[in-house]
Amino acid sequence: MQTVDTKVTLAEVGELVEEAREERIARRVDRIYQQVPANSCERCAEYCFNAAQVHPIEFLNIYDALLAMPELTQARLAKRLIEYELLHMATLDLTCPFLERDECIVDERMPLECRLFGLYPKGDYAAIQVESRSANEQLAMFYARNHRVLLPEEVMLHEVEQCQNNVQADGKALIVGDRERQHVHSQLFALGEQFLPEEWQSSDEASFTSQYAELFFDADDLVELKVKVIKEYQSGGKRKTLDKLLSTSGLKF
Ligand code: SF4
Repeated sequence: MQTVDTKVTLAEVGELVEEAREERIARRVDRIYQQVPANSCERCAEYCFNAAQVHPIEFLNIYDALLAMPELTQARLAKRLIEYELLHMATLDLTCPFLERDECIVDERMPLECRLFGLYPKGDYAAIQVESRSANEQLAMFYARNHRVLLPEEVMLHEVEQCQNNVQADGKALIVGDRERQHVHSQLFALGEQFLPEEWQSSDEASFTSQYAELFFDADDLVELKVKVIKEYQSGGKRKTLDKLLSTSGLKF
């Protein structure tokens, strides 16, 4: 495993979780979430194909919940988070690591992005899909040009259909418009600004898995590792580097 050289270290996250408990951050995040109307999600887990994108303050909030889980669960999740981060671009077989038996195991601290799924106006959802396709095209080009890795089209072009279940009693769709969504996002950002160290503040969300992996790996090392793991996987489904890493790295929370 590479030497830890990250913007926020594992030890610092541990300290921040302690402070977050004292400051009742979980309750404050929850109050922000309560502005999102409860939806009629049927837990089909289709959306959970991708790891959730989270604000740094949500990362900390979920991390806190993971620390309260039994050690064996933590060990299993730590491996799944890294496995997902290193390999998900090469296969459709991996889902969000928090999805277990079609249930979200961080349900109570489910990130905003997941709470909003299904509540987008149709046009907004279509625009998000266009953005996501374009981001995946850029990603595929980056890996092809710089690392000679061809990311499979079936993964890069995979799309999750918009949920059709959010229908209210009057038959109208339950939607949350762009302004309302931005308002809730900005509150999470503001809470992060208030509470998190400067080097960890960001108005952008990033996947939980990438934020977790960056606690252990420098960003460049992480790309190199992904390239190695994906190339092995693409030559006959081999997982030598990945399995060795998962069994010896001492990943933890
Ligand atoms: S955090 Fe939970 S709801 Fe969100 S994608 Fe993962 S499993 Fe699904």
